[in-house]
Amino acid sequence: MTSLVDFHCHLDLFPDPEAIIAQVEGARIRALTMTTTPRAWPHNRELTKDKTYIRPALGYHPELIKGDSSELQLWEKYLPEAKYIGEVGLDGRPEARRYLAEQKEVFSHILRSCAREGKRILSIHSTFAVTEALNLIEEHLPPARGKIVLHWFTGTSKEATRATDLGCYFSINSAMLSSTKNCAMLAELPTNRIITETDSPFILLNGKTQSPLNIKVTVKKLSTLIHREPEATAQIVHENLIALVS
Ligand code: MN
Repeated sequence: MTSLVDFHCHLDLFPDPEAIIAQVEGARIRALTMTTTPRAWPHNRELTKDKTYIRPALGYHPELIKGDSSELQLWEKYLPEAKYIGEVGLDGRPEARRYLAEQKEVFSHILRSCAREGKRILSIHSTFAVTEALNLIEEHLPPARGKIVLHWFTGTSKEATRATDLGCYFSINSAMLSSTKNCAMLAELPTNRIITETDSPFILLNGKTQSPLNIKVTVKKLSTLIHREPEATAQIVHENLIALVS
């Protein structure tokens, strides 16, 4: 059976996490819910315990690393119990760039730890720092030691090709598909590397907060991009998910 997939959302940041988790589980939508800070992991793990369709990811969001990376020890402590890692990576926007050196230290550490442990699947943030993020991935995480999904990828076609050659997948949301600038690059991605995401609750669509329950909108937009029927697109994404997690 084809399940819809939201490979990057933040269910613990919804006003009522228990309620949205119950709804997503009821709708049989496969969702990967991020943590932004390691100290939120125990709560996320509890929220998603015994769920069939929802999995938690252990993260340390680059925007939260502002000259203080003390939670890295906590991230390391929880790593043995986490199969999925996210949200992690680099943020090169002007307000975060002054901490880029610290972000790189933390991200390198995370990649090395994942390489050491093996079998981790990472959802990676690379806004305005795509080349830097790919450099660190190439340096620290060999493809045989872990799998990468680039979340909200906004790199150039050349960077997309490099990421593909490194074995990366791409999780695509509705905001990305609304940008004509992005669409040319996204249309060139190999269809066997595409997954869907909402990054909810952070994206508004027609003024409304998104949730995994709206993932059909993203599937429909993606189907236009790759010239397939929505049902066939959902099938492709589901098959890609199976290949990614197996
Ligand atoms: Mn996110």
